[in-house]
Amino acid sequence: MLYQRSSSLFAEAKKYIPGGVNSPVRAFKAVGGDPIFVNEAKGAYLYDEDGNRLIDYIASWGPLILGHAYAPVVDAVIDKAKKGTSFGMPTEIETELAQLTVSMVPNIDKIRFVNSGTEACMSAIRLARGYTGRDKIIKFAGCYHGHSDSFLIQAGSGAVTFGTPNSPGVTQGTAKDTLLAPYNDLESVKALTQANRGEIAAIIIEPVAGNMGCIVPREGFLEGLRELCNREGILLLFDEVMTGFRLAKGGAQEALGINADMVMFGKVIGGGLPVGAFAARSEIMAHLAPEGPVYQAGTLSGNPLAMGAGLAMLTQLNEHPEVFESLADKTEHLYEGFDNVLRKKGIPYQINRFGSMISVHFTNAPVMDFETSAKGNNETFKKYFHGMLEKGIYLPPSAFESYFLNDALSYGDLDETIAALDALDL
Ligand SMILES: *Cc1c(COP(=O)(O)O)cnc(C)c1O
Repeated sequence: MLYQRSSSLFAEAKKYIPGGVNSPVRAFKAVGGDPIFVNEAKGAYLYDEDGNRLIDYIASWGPLILGHAYAPVVDAVIDKAKKGTSFGMPTEIETELAQLTVSMVPNIDKIRFVNSGTEACMSAIRLARGYTGRDKIIKFAGCYHGHSDSFLIQAGSGAVTFGTPNSPGVTQGTAKDTLLAPYNDLESVKALTQANRGEIAAIIIEPVAGNMGCIVPREGFLEGLRELCNREGILLLFDEVMTGFRLAKGGAQEALGINADMVMFGKVIGGGLPVGAFAARSEIMAHLAPEGPVYQAGTLSGNPLAMGAGLAMLTQLNEHPEVFESLADKTEHLYEGFDNVLRKKGIPYQINRFGSMISVHFTNAPVMDFETSAKGNNETFKKYFHGMLEKGIYLPPSAFESYFLNDALSYGDLDETIAALDALDL
């Protein structure tokens, strides 16, 4: 395959946009080489600027669960656009999407729409702090909750009690209110809550992690967090930006049978347009402006095009929940194919999966947290990524990302993907 035009577009982009991209992972830093510039996409396929067709396993990092350019979503956006693109006044469709969301997701009464997953998590934490009157939060190493200051804190040795900023520009003052624990380690969370009794507003977690590869919560881990939160008056926040409307109609809460106090959405809820949202019981949401004192706002929040896309997407998922089964079956098929092929190759590997999330790690030890995920061999990953790309398979360009299957993928596409892996020399 040739990537001539992509490479020249990237060179041009770098002159005007830092690193040539508007979100860092797109730049292929972890795998080397120039990123692919996409021209259009339909169903499960991307068509790049050099005319290559790629089978897509990222689906815009999750939103396009039914495939690219899904007709009901496209039609809704066109329809809405013709009537005006933004008003800064209330519209009926916001209530329609809110009502539908509340009916699909367990344990929430009210929802506020924002423009991204980052905004949703940032606002949810503010509300949790306002509601509890406490400042500190606990997050898990390797979990991503968007790029707002409180969340750009990663574990390092000695960072168990006080987080260390992991990006310049995050102040120590902010970092000290974010406590870190390893994923799947209930004991360390208990220790943190003991040491900070009465000071912790919220525990925020990806109920199935997808930002250090796919990592599944251990039996009893989330149940343990739920009990701990009940006992200590801490709010349990499920960041379902990735898992919401993907693992089940009601997201991870439904798939895992655990209730969170607040839930954040993004990705699928916008059907590919910029939407985020956070939701909770009325009693908590009543603290949000203009009903309550916790401030949060947005000029383009509840935008009619975005609401139209979200409503078309969620309506389809609500009326056809069998799609989650179909996606899980396809993921299982991919898993079995990959497992057979990699076993034959005799190299160390782990494959984690849950529903339509899956990731491959080139390591011997089970991957259950950031530390074990980081042990994956990145040289092998690079070969794997570029080898697959060469064969027309577009995987996430980093070992720390989950793949997101979309239902437009056919079993033929999956078999083509498995055959591509079989043909690779790793
Ligand atoms: C993508 C993601 C976010 C951030 O959403 P943006 O729309 O990129 O701001 C937050 N949390 C999780 C779990 C995500 O996967």
